[in-house]
Amino acid sequence: MYDFLDQVYRMLRAAGELGEIDAAVMDLMAGPSRVLAFRIPLKMDDGSRQVFDAYRVRYSDALGPSRDGTRVSPDIDIDEVTALGLLMTIKHAAGHIPAGGGKGGVVADPNVLSSREFESLCRAYVRCLRPAGPAYDVPGADIGTDARAMAWMLDEYEQITGYHCPAAINDKPAILGGSLGGEEATGRGVFDAFAKAADDLGMAMLDTTVAIQGFGQVGSVAATMFYEAGCRVIAVSDSGGGIRNDGGLNVPALRTFAADAGTVAGFPGADRITNAELLETACTVLVPAAIQGVIHRENALRVKARLLVEAANAPTTIEAEEILLQHGVTVVPDVIANSGSVHVCQMERSQDLYDNYWDADTIDDLRRTRLLRSYREALHTAANLGVESVRLGAWVNALRRIEEAVHARGWL
Ligand code: NAD
Repeated sequence: MYDFLDQVYRMLRAAGELGEIDAAVMDLMAGPSRVLAFRIPLKMDDGSRQVFDAYRVRYSDALGPSRDGTRVSPDIDIDEVTALGLLMTIKHAAGHIPAGGGKGGVVADPNVLSSREFESLCRAYVRCLRPAGPAYDVPGADIGTDARAMAWMLDEYEQITGYHCPAAINDKPAILGGSLGGEEATGRGVFDAFAKAADDLGMAMLDTTVAIQGFGQVGSVAATMFYEAGCRVIAVSDSGGGIRNDGGLNVPALRTFAADAGTVAGFPGADRITNAELLETACTVLVPAAIQGVIHRENALRVKARLLVEAANAPTTIEAEEILLQHGVTVVPDVIANSGSVHVCQMERSQDLYDNYWDADTIDDLRRTRLLRSYREALHTAANLGVESVRLGAWVNALRRIEEAVHARGWL
């Protein structure tokens, strides 16, 4: 049985041991520094009343204010929010971002809420959470929330405080101080990470075939980037099922189709496949861009890709990664591959605090430069420590920075 929190805690311990991180610092990192659980009462459109469970985990603030997304999902629980909070802490630290890691969660299905109910829920989340501003904890978007939701959260925050403070909430629309390039940042970063790995492996773009699980904000943008670079995107799936055409899918047409149909399944001119078959498609690059834990001990040996680029958070279990590495598959880990958005969130904060907004090319260049720097550093550390796992390299780099900050603050 897959246990997300257990997986990230095991990864934490493995990296701490490998990097010889101070035992007291590892003790501090063994759990979140602050956890808030609260309940949101809401009046529904039909006159009924409901109560929603909600959480905010500030996993660590050694490197700076905690920061990151708010997941709204019917399945979320405190363990998942905690696991994601730790992953964000590592992602920020591995990317030299002066922020701690946090995550929020609301147990609700945004698909069954009316627009008014969802807006009320987002506003009530901020009222109940009472975020203390950009120097303390900065919520952003995640699965189930988007720029529109973050606009409501920012407005609620500003209504409560009585002053404008765009840096208090990330991932908001550009008209309210959001950064250009924010929505595409993760998908674009996934492609940049792939391009570096492909170059290292001597893979030619035109010979590259790609299978992508998940066709949401990240998967659809990554698919477009692969398509525009001349790669053949041969299989795509989402929660409605999957499709495959070995001749290559027309990604722009697929995006139009999926926007209308609500799923990629049924796209004309392609065979239907299941999500399990998608992961086992014969291809050069596999991009899991949906949920955690999809590549595990049972199916890892059936993965036929040469390169796995983790767009989703934690799509590969520890056991699966070991199997993949033993069989010569290169794995670009989530904390590098999907870090495009955390780099743009850092730039969003810088722009908001300076009240000075940059053009899209400047943001795109900086995002790519910073992501590739953390990738190179993770490769370097993995090689120095004699391990194949780039994930371990990135986690060790992150823990070393957190260790330095904890010592510099005199905490331990
Ligand atoms: P999204 O909600 O826009 O899209 C998710 C996609 O995954 C959808 O196509 C959905 O149908 C599909 N999906 C959901 N459950 C599935 C299942 N069981 N099997 C197959 N497909 C399934 O989300 P997103 O923003 O694209 O995020 C995707 C992943 O990337 C998540 O793991 C998220 O945490 C991670 N991520 C996102 C960002 C970002 O900037 N959006 C940043 C870093 C990491």
